[in-house]
Amino acid sequence: MKSHTEYLWFNVKAKREFINITDKVEDALAKSGVQEGMALVSAMHITAGVYVNDAESGLIQDIEDWLQGLAPEGPDYRHHRTGEVNGDAHLKSLLIHHQVIVPITEGRLDLGPWQQVYYAEFDGRRRKRAIIKIMGE
Ligand code: ZN
Repeated sequence: MKSHTEYLWFNVKAKREFINITDKVEDALAKSGVQEGMALVSAMHITAGVYVNDAESGLIQDIEDWLQGLAPEGPDYRHHRTGEVNGDAHLKSLLIHHQVIVPITEGRLDLGPWQQVYYAEFDGRRRKRAIIKIMGE
């Protein structure tokens, strides 16, 4: 079995941002030489996430509004008793989930027609990373 590992670094200026990383995963796949297998893409933080969905600006705003509704920024979360102020970002990460697995078939990401891979930042303004691990033959 072949495997190939890459790290993607982010330092977004905003607190929240949704970044399409599909081309980065495709680049990693090309370097790996894997034809049949899986690509794991995982945020290496507890206040970020990785998900698969449509690359459509209205939808991205809808996702952000939905997350804000369920885990609003600012309220006095118990987590803030530690001195932190990012309780909402932890909960948003749980809602989006932290990783995805994308199938690889005949050397390509076997995504559906509208599926894209996104890194979702919920507590930006600092260096953070995601891991891409390609495994297969
Ligand atoms: Zn925290």
